[in-house]
Amino acid sequence: MVYHQVCGYDDLMDCLFCAIVAGEIPSRQVYADDAAIAFLDINPFHPGHTLVIPRRHVQDLLADPVVLEEIAPAIEATAKLLVDKLGADGLNVMSSAGEVAGQEVMHLHVHLIPRSADKPGLRELLVREPVGDVDEVFARITAP
Ligand code: 5GP
Ligand code: ZN
Repeated sequence: MVYHQVCGYDDLMDCLFCAIVAGEIPSRQVYADDAAIAFLDINPFHPGHTLVIPRRHVQDLLADPVVLEEIAPAIEATAKLLVDKLGADGLNVMSSAGEVAGQEVMHLHVHLIPRSADKPGLRELLVREPVGDVDEVFARITAP
């Protein structure tokens, strides 16, 4: 077992997102504050699909009553950043709690998914299509 200094999680190797918080696995980070970081999803549903996660290890929204409040400023700031920089027409905010809900990484994450008017509606939300060059999208979001 490895005790992790950043989050206190018992075994860092068990948690991909703790490793991303610690900088041990690279990510395309678009926002950070004391409580949370935000980085581009490696397999986006739509261009600019971003994950906001707490720095501390929390399994999901049901496991901790205050975590959503802690990461709310990061969610708000990142949502505005994505819409502004990408010129999105709208945005979905989503977080899954538990395998039955589709959660695959057991470190709380809030999906921010920018949407465009040419593919409207919930039916189009989770249809993965080629989304182009992720590095180009990252450059647009992080441009001054
Ligand atoms: P979930 O299905 O748990 O709600 O979402 C997990 C998300 O994490 C998926 O959208 C998946 O593409 C993303 N993901 C999985 N591994 C990595 C990774 O190593 N880096 C990044 N940036 N995203 C990842
Ligand atoms: Zn974790």
